[in-house]
Amino acid sequence: MTTRRAFLLTPLAIAACARTPKPPRSSGARRLAITMDDPVVDETPRLDSRARDAALLQALATRRIRAALFVCGKRVDSAEGAALLARWSSAGHILGNHSYSHRFFHSRSMTLADSVEELEKGEAIVRPYPGFRRRFRFPFLKEGNTIEKRDGARAALARRTSRTCSIALATTTA
Ligand SMILES: [Zn+2]
Repeated sequence: MTTRRAFLLTPLAIAACARTPKPPRSSGARRLAITMDDPVVDETPRLDSRARDAALLQALATRRIRAALFVCGKRVDSAEGAALLARWSSAGHILGNHSYSHRFFHSRSMTLADSVEELEKGEAIVRPYPGFRRRFRFPFLKEGNTIEKRDGARAALARRTSRTCSIALATTTA
């Protein structure tokens, strides 16, 4: 099996969240978390943003899947973006934080203060919705290029009781 890395445009991922309770071994039950990253309201050649969003929500509803949407704040920081988040929230899906600008946390030009600002600004975009849960996915799954930045970002998340969510399996729509 080919190992694939998760890239920026990772629309669907099987995710694992730190500290997520595991089902009892004896039950034999398995759990999957279906997550999608980086919703946008941009136009695409085949569908406009509302039609694309409606198709996604319909596909999930048909399969009775409750997903988590990890939101990059700047991509939905508009009236149209707010409407998208409201639709996902009212459909029962979870809204998580995926930072505000999707910066590369490993960048040398990015300080710990920048990282914390990204966490806070991103959370402010999704916090108003009932579907908001304190879940965070680092952009590119990179937490910081130094121990100070990594641990500082983790501590900032812990103070907000926010769990980090990684990816176990990613797919793309290339
Ligand atoms: Zn992303």
